[in-house]
Amino acid sequence: MDKPISGTMIYYYMVCKRKVWYFYNQIQMEADNENVQIGKIIDENTYEREDKHINIDDVINIDYIRSKGTLHEVKKSKKIEEAGIMQIKYYLYYLKQKGVENINGKVDYPLLKQSINIELTDEDESNIENMLVDLKEIVNKPLPPLLEKKQICKKCAYFELCYI
Ligand code: SF4
Repeated sequence: MDKPISGTMIYYYMVCKRKVWYFYNQIQMEADNENVQIGKIIDENTYEREDKHINIDDVINIDYIRSKGTLHEVKKSKKIEEAGIMQIKYYLYYLKQKGVENINGKVDYPLLKQSINIELTDEDESNIENMLVDLKEIVNKPLPPLLEKKQICKKCAYFELCYI
């Protein structure tokens, strides 16, 4: 049976198709990666007063929810901004499928002291549906997609695996 597609998988799909293949197929190297550790430190030291990490169905893991139904996703930089935005749109999409509407999202960049407001449009919904079809096709293949060198590779947890 197919595993559910989580928000992290959507994020990785946007960043690198090979990365989402590794992650879905349970090859995880995140714990030792310096960038992941920086992310954890930000997580532990920001927004301390909020209820954090609200997990729904193991599919979405919302960083925190503030009043008036705003879901927050915290990122350390804007480098892969589009992926962070899509991750929170996926949360809004997933909750809408469950009948939860009239909520919105925010991506927070505490290090930059900035936030971006996110709404889910009809176009986003159809993009997410197409993305889910493509993502499932990729992760169910026996091998990961071919390596395409990118700027972000040097900071990726899977660098050593891709570049041995
Ligand atoms: S090292 Fe590069 S190609 Fe490999 S998973 Fe990471 S981002 Fe993708």
